Amino acid sequence: PGRLLVVDDLRVSFPGAGGPVTPVRGVSFSLRHGESVGVVGESGSGKSLTALAIAQLIEEPGRVQAGRLEFLGVPLLGNRANRRLLGTSFAMVFQDPMTSFNPTQRIGRQLAEVARQHHGMGPRRAFTRAVDRLRAVRVPGAARRARQFPHEFSGGMRQRAMIGMGLMGNPALIVADEPTTALDVTVQRQVLRLLRDVRAADDVAILLISHDISVVRQVCDRVLVMYAGRIVEDLPAAGLRTGARHPYTRALLAAVPDMTTDRAEPLAIIPGRPADPAHPPTGCAFAPRCTYATEQCTATEPPLEPAEDGRRVACWHAALVGEPR
Ligand code: SF4
Ligand code: MG
Repeated sequence: PGRLLVVDDLRVSFPGAGGPVTPVRGVSFSLRHGESVGVVGESGSGKSLTALAIAQLIEEPGRVQAGRLEFLGVPLLGNRANRRLLGTSFAMVFQDPMTSFNPTQRIGRQLAEVARQHHGMGPRRAFTRAVDRLRAVRVPGAARRARQFPHEFSGGMRQRAMIGMGLMGNPALIVADEPTTALDVTVQRQVLRLLRDVRAADDVAILLISHDISVVRQVCDRVLVMYAGRIVEDLPAAGLRTGARHPYTRALLAAVPDMTTDRAEPLAIIPGRPADPAHPPTGCAFAPRCTYATEQCTATEPPLEPAEDGRRVACWHAALVGEPR
């Protein structure tokens, strides 16, 4: 089976006062059908821009370049046919559904509109499907709720409806950018469980963007860690805590409580500031904050190299970071 999504050497740049700024600089990964991959990193790491570039949502004067950017075998860049493909097989879920829904239109009608536009469904069938999708994302009283306006939904219910809207066209891929960040912990857990269930039931692939590594590991098979516009580590979500080799991934993990043991560790703050995309450093972008940094690190940026079990890591001293306790 072919790859669902192929991203090779993706770059996103914007004009800046001192020349172009490139907040995404050479991101490469692929997704299989039904696979669930998380992209994690601090704000400004380029994770949202990566998602927007895949969705063809980077606006002028932003510029997207890639060696390859293919979805379902179709090149996305400079290809007009891609609009239709993205409309039917691809769904994007954002942090705040309030901004994605039209406040003046009933929820059911907005969902139905997707089926009408992209699948040519008649209004009655489309509305029936909308109610069905609301039921699928466990909105209680879906038929009644379909006739309500977005402001009549709680934040968590809106996010469910947003995911339901994404499911209107049987997508092959859902890209969710911080879908639970605005929600409280209990609701967040419900929405993450929903994403997991949706994936299992509909065999849809998920690309989940989050600043919170504990969120992505609840949903994803694989985790891509981004720092300063690049992937610095690519590893399985299982055994994340023991498997991480990049000092930045380790630092992200140290900042969240260990859910496997329920032992609440003190919140470790990663010292120093995230790299500024306008002034990328010469060597490893993480060097100013890294306790392992050597002269080699500040002189030359480490490439993202394949490691054991299909992992990838970009660190000169990944071997030294070694086995954790
Ligand atoms: Fe730290 Fe050097 Fe590895 Fe960068 S390459 S993460 S500075 S040890
Ligand atoms: Mg973001």
